[in-house]
Amino acid sequence: MSSDQPFVTDDSQVLTDTRDARLAGADNRFNSKLREAFGSSPFILTKFDKFMNWVRGSSMFMLQFGIACCSIEMMHTYAVKHDLDRFGAGVPRASPRQADVIIVPGTIVSKFAPRMKRVYDQMPEPKFVVGMGSCTISGGPFQEGYNVIKGAEEVIPVDIHIPGCPPRPEALVYGVAKLQERIANGESSPVVVKPYELEQFGDLERDEIVDQLAEEIDTDDLVMRYNWADSP
Ligand code: SF4
Repeated sequence: MSSDQPFVTDDSQVLTDTRDARLAGADNRFNSKLREAFGSSPFILTKFDKFMNWVRGSSMFMLQFGIACCSIEMMHTYAVKHDLDRFGAGVPRASPRQADVIIVPGTIVSKFAPRMKRVYDQMPEPKFVVGMGSCTISGGPFQEGYNVIKGAEEVIPVDIHIPGCPPRPEALVYGVAKLQERIANGESSPVVVKPYELEQFGDLERDEIVDQLAEEIDTDDLVMRYNWADSP
């Protein structure tokens, strides 16, 4: 291009429909079905508490906090395959002062429990706790351990318990969505969520569940074998 040639020669190349509309004073980018439904008086009347609960449930800041193996599933939940952002709960915060939800993902040992309580105490109110995995609920496979806390509930109040060892990311997403739903509805008593993968067993007795699960187990997949012969 020679220097006497203007960079853009034809206005029609740069003027878009949106820009035309804005220049003409009719910018419809902010129109929506909801806005149209409100008509000429776009005001919403609601109770303040209901509004605040809806706001809290729609914008949750998680604490970046991992303890044991469940944390790996939690990291996976934050990774690309699963989309917590879509529910307004995706970005973990590096400081308890910027977080309102702590996910407790793993075994809590007695030496760590006071530290966890201190982190929880530093979070601003209102704050919520998601217990992830059997260890956090009851001590899990390490329940008999002399140094293992028999559930996060002994240290801090838990709002949602997500069973599993470890729970899959889908179960954690479900638990967080359940927490949001409960906060939006102003409910605060603790609950145990039933991960979606167990729903197919929902109407069975405990023994029948065990039998059915046992049938699905492939021992070759289940057993972790260590190759002593080839190990250094
Ligand atoms: S519940 Fe299972 S996966 Fe989670 S921390 Fe305990 S042992 Fe690890």
